[in-house]
Amino acid sequence: MSSPLTPGSDTAAPASAALFDRAARSIPGGVNSPVRAFSAVGGTPRFIVSASGSQLVDADGKRYVDLVSSWGPMILGHAHPAVVDAVQRAATTGLSFGAPTEAEIALAEEIIARVAPVERVRLVNSGTEATMSAVRLARGVTGRAKIIKFAGCYHGHVDALLADAGSGVATLGLPTSPGVTGAQAQDTLVLPYNDLDAVRAAFAQYPGQIAAVITEAAAGNMGAVPPLPGFNEGLREITRADGALLILDEVMTGFRVSKAGWYGLEPVDADLFTFGKVMSGGLPAAAFGGSAEVMGHLAPLGPVYQAGTLSGNPVAVAAGLATLQHATDEVYAKLNANSIRLGGLIGDALTAEGVRHHVQYAGNLVSVFFTDGPVADYAQAKAAETFRFAPFFHALLEQGIYPPPSAFEAWFVSAALTDDDFASIEAALPAAARAAAAATE
Ligand SMILES: *Cc1c(COP(=O)(O)O)cnc(C)c1O
Repeated sequence: MSSPLTPGSDTAAPASAALFDRAARSIPGGVNSPVRAFSAVGGTPRFIVSASGSQLVDADGKRYVDLVSSWGPMILGHAHPAVVDAVQRAATTGLSFGAPTEAEIALAEEIIARVAPVERVRLVNSGTEATMSAVRLARGVTGRAKIIKFAGCYHGHVDALLADAGSGVATLGLPTSPGVTGAQAQDTLVLPYNDLDAVRAAFAQYPGQIAAVITEAAAGNMGAVPPLPGFNEGLREITRADGALLILDEVMTGFRVSKAGWYGLEPVDADLFTFGKVMSGGLPAAAFGGSAEVMGHLAPLGPVYQAGTLSGNPVAVAAGLATLQHATDEVYAKLNANSIRLGGLIGDALTAEGVRHHVQYAGNLVSVFFTDGPVADYAQAKAAETFRFAPFFHALLEQGIYPPPSAFEAWFVSAALTDDDFASIEAALPAAARAAAAATE
């Protein structure tokens, strides 16, 4: 096998490189979401022209086994015939009405049927909108301002949630992006993930002032980092005792790690859940939901305002509904088996080359940390030898395997992966493991 791509080299992908140059002249950084720019790994992002089942095809006509799945949604694989058919049928009867439709009820009912504590659902357009609205609702319901989030958990680009930890354990948050004001960040307390003592200390420091704790049901945005046993349940007890709400963000895990998402693996009764990704089958839709009582504070029933011109869009709803209806027990069994098969192959290849690593799972989310595991929080994730990731990534990419282009992202399998795909992955891994072994800081 040849050596991994030099970052910035475009000989492997001339058509993508030309498109990236052109894109940079009209779109900031050439992309509409930063991770797509390959900044963390270098090189040329692949411009995709089509996808089907488990595979992507780029502008140079090269095929890739897709281990990103659009960052989660494509559990059935790309262009699944039933989903495409549902979208086509919806599109031919009108793209948007700004008035309610029956299909929105069906999607809400499907979500409610799967996640027991969810009695009412409001559809929105992105995961960011879902968490932003859930936080506003929690503040409106409790009449309190402060929010607890955990370092390394991502909840979309909501101003109040783009905050980093201050220096002490329970200090007020600092903005992590210019444009987020101190006022927007200072009501956010950022605590270490999987650390209930830090949560207890924060509640002791700010009794009756914390509106909600928001946490990924299982962290997937610092790599796959599952909650330690008792962590989510502990959050439930602490919030309940103080009169704060618990928001479980299932935008990534929802309807991917089981039929009922993380709730299906660990049934903790949060006050609010947020969903996205899988539930819209690859089109822009997301949701938040909770008890009838809490959701009853939303307009038009209650005073907490929340709205959307395209919310519940009929085409997006059709894609989501078709995806959930085809996400059968067999699909979940396949996703789980595929993730274990993938993690096993990665681990075997790295072990064979003597690369220190830990393959970690959160449900069927997989990630590889270049450190002795397990990894329980963001500090540990960042302490890994992340410099090994870029050469590992590029060696796979060059051989037609498309992993997430960042050491801190989970790998997402689909149920469409075939034995041939796994043979390709297995064949590509030794060179990637050698590249990881050879990497220097
Ligand atoms: C992706 C993600 C979001 C944000 O969703 P967008 O649709 O990208 O706005 C929020 N929370 C979690 C846990 C996510 O993984």
